[in-house]
Amino acid sequence: MDFYAAKFSTSADRLGACPADSLIEVAFAGRSNAGKSSAINALTGQTRLARTSKTPGRTQLINFFELQERHFLVDLPGYGFAKVPLAVKNKWQFELEQYLRNREPLKGLVLLSDVRHPLKEFDRLMVEWAVQSQLPLHLLLTKADKLKRGAAKGTLLSVERELKELSAVSVQLFSITQGETINTLRQQLTSWFLGSEDNQDGE
Ligand code: GDP
Repeated sequence: MDFYAAKFSTSADRLGACPADSLIEVAFAGRSNAGKSSAINALTGQTRLARTSKTPGRTQLINFFELQERHFLVDLPGYGFAKVPLAVKNKWQFELEQYLRNREPLKGLVLLSDVRHPLKEFDRLMVEWAVQSQLPLHLLLTKADKLKRGAAKGTLLSVERELKELSAVSVQLFSITQGETINTLRQQLTSWFLGSEDNQDGE
């Protein structure tokens, strides 16, 4: 999968507005400031594909980046931003749940959570929705470079322990400054994209 080929395709403000002809997509979700834009930019080798958030939570859109013919990376709106009015928060919570539960081409969810305070309340809800929808989930513990190696490893182990009962959930440390962690993410995404193609061929 050529992640460097990613280009912006379209934005949607709700599930119903997402592209109808998508074949396979993988979505990125996380609290505002978790490092989602930075991760998408690092993954695709581009500096400005996803905008790093100067005003977190402002652009509440689902952004579609095309990797190859009708194969998309999907940047979901960041959540958990305190200054967003409750009504807006509730609307987006509803839209996110709709998207995760009902979006047919969606084959995997990358959830980003800061390694220094992993799995906050809404992150847990995302994990729950993914598991209920039998959607494979890959958790990135982001900004791993902010902790000493041992502390980061300790967090990884305790999060792994906590999630080990759940099927189709994996966890890794991630940092945009650590190329090997970006490669690990690329491998996970490639297996989702290619695995889904195999399934389609087999039908
Ligand atoms: P988003 O709101 O989830 O899209 O988060 P951003 O990508 O805008 O990142 C939020 C802040 O964290 C920015 O100041 C980034 O520079 C910083 N950041 C993101 N990823 C990393 C990382 O791997 N290491 C470090 N040290 N900082 C990071």
